[in-house]
Amino acid sequence: MTTVQDALSHIAAEDMRHIMRVQSAALKAIHDYMYSNGVLQSMPVILSPMTDPLNHPHFDANVEYYGQRLQLTKSMILQKQLSLFNGGMDKVYFMSPNVRLEEARLRDTGRHLFEFTQVDIELKDRTKKDFMQLVDGMLAYIYEFVVRECLDELKALGRELKLPTVPLKVYESEELKDRYGEQFETIASEKAEDPFWITNFRREFYDREDKERRGYFHNYDVFWPEGYGEALSGGEREYEHDEIIRKMKERSTDIGAYATYLSVSEKGLIPRTVGGGLGVERMVRYLTGQRHIRDVTMFPRVPGEKVVF
Ligand code: AMP
Ligand code: MG
Repeated sequence: MTTVQDALSHIAAEDMRHIMRVQSAALKAIHDYMYSNGVLQSMPVILSPMTDPLNHPHFDANVEYYGQRLQLTKSMILQKQLSLFNGGMDKVYFMSPNVRLEEARLRDTGRHLFEFTQVDIELKDRTKKDFMQLVDGMLAYIYEFVVRECLDELKALGRELKLPTVPLKVYESEELKDRYGEQFETIASEKAEDPFWITNFRREFYDREDKERRGYFHNYDVFWPEGYGEALSGGEREYEHDEIIRKMKERSTDIGAYATYLSVSEKGLIPRTVGGGLGVERMVRYLTGQRHIRDVTMFPRVPGEKVVF
């Protein structure tokens, strides 16, 4: 999609309004669910001196503003943790726009954009079990609401959604690796009929590693079924300064880039939290049964593709 005409045809496609209606219903379901569960919505930021380091190759995006170098947020993980420094708030979420300048080789995965939005949730003084329960309930509520509200749209799109059985199944990554090999995420998603959890992945410094059982991480992903792949990533978080530093070193993280965050952890003031982020466009792609994530965004930002509007 490189011409103005192509971009206009994309916006004007008949399916687009059906997809936007499904998206609106799903977002309403999320906001209603959060509100009734006491999860408070805070507004996102997209410029910050620090952001998620991410654990895969990508390009950095930053701007200089009055002598300060500000990054475009790749996720709000660190801000989410800090927002719960407010003693009266223990559950928070953000509709967080993320800029991740992904490599062009990801153009045809059907799952990658270089700008997308996460429903980014964090809970204080809770465990992964609490978070998983909250998300199970949220997903069940989204399905139920969308199926009820968007009968005509789903029919027009030729999409049939089966309500999932909750609690969703939980697998260990090692167990699935033994069963399916290195491509276990893809294969498990293709075989599944309901969304499901996989726990324990080695990734960024902020996901909590078990102190007694090194190499075991208290984190998880949710996967959509039917081969739609990853839906959400999250975990219990590191909050102890020594652990954060140890893990940053292990991952060759630029420690200086996190100086302000580390000045807080050094004082023992990072709240003890658990959370995760659900990709909005990937959710809509799954709910509406689209092949490529491009087709659920009015203004697609596909890795390596020219942007028109
Ligand atoms: P992460 O914590 O990096 O896994 O991101 C949280 C969620 O955002 C993922 O589970 C996806 O649903 C979504 N997501 C991550 N990267 C992208 C991307 N490049 N394009 C679209 N959605 C994404
Ligand atoms: Mg992930």
